Amino acid sequence: MGTYDVKELKSAGIMKQKGKDLFSLRLRIVGGYVTANQLPKLAEIATRFGKGHIHLTARQGIEIPSIHFAEIETVKSELAKVDLDLGACGPRVRTVTACQGSLCSHGLIDSQSIARKIDKVFFGRGGLPHKFKIGVTGCPNACLKPLENDLGITGIVEKEFVEEDCNPCGLCVEVCPAKALRMEKERLVYEKKKSVLCGECILICPFGAWVRKRTGYRIYVGGKMGKWPVLGYSSGEFFGSEDELVHLIQKALEFYREKGKEGERFRETIDRTGLEKLKEKIGEGI
Ligand code: SF4
Ligand code: SF4
Repeated sequence: MGTYDVKELKSAGIMKQKGKDLFSLRLRIVGGYVTANQLPKLAEIATRFGKGHIHLTARQGIEIPSIHFAEIETVKSELAKVDLDLGACGPRVRTVTACQGSLCSHGLIDSQSIARKIDKVFFGRGGLPHKFKIGVTGCPNACLKPLENDLGITGIVEKEFVEEDCNPCGLCVEVCPAKALRMEKERLVYEKKKSVLCGECILICPFGAWVRKRTGYRIYVGGKMGKWPVLGYSSGEFFGSEDELVHLIQKALEFYREKGKEGERFRETIDRTGLEKLKEKIGEGI
């Protein structure tokens, strides 16, 4: 087989594996969303061109291993028939991950559509010191593990208590995971600073005494796994539009591009320059 540039192929999601001229193809699966008509095509490709199996990655992705170099373009054409494309690797923005917040009864934001929106704007964007992972989770239950991402987004809700509608049944006290609610002399007491803004009280209240005021995002920065895993810092809460959220991510990437040293993960850049500097940057224009 002719020569190939392994690094260049890797940047396009085509990763050299063990075995002569064999590659594992990483797909761009946004938010772990795969349709029923894509699955048979994946099975067909794995059978015809691979070794009859696929690999599910830790970040909701799919890889098709054991594809011969000579077959890569054919496989790409087959994938395109069901609107599938290759993912990315190397120092660039990776495919965005998301929980099922759009369907989940706890979901406060439409995590799937937000992930698609972010992915559409930033996927594959390079010129960065290292990889950059973004994850969106629908509520503070954090099933998607936003703190493991370079930039993690958690849906939150700000609520209002309408005391005259409260028929003090105590149900919200029972479900509040943060113990921010308690009954005192048959009156509900709310300690706002304890709240994690999950909105469980809104869901449970049969009398509508808890009202959703506005939905927002808690932003985490600098999380990473690998040899030296660390959880992300909370860089604060943000109540704004999805477009403003995209703008915030744009600012975070600019910060990383401007301040990061080659080979440095976002976390190291933040620790070297200071979290406050990053907060200033991402707050610009919002
Ligand atoms: S993070 Fe929240 S919204 Fe997303 S799947 Fe978990 S419980 Fe549901
Ligand atoms: S669930 Fe509703 S009605 Fe019951 S105590 Fe809480 S706010 Fe009041």
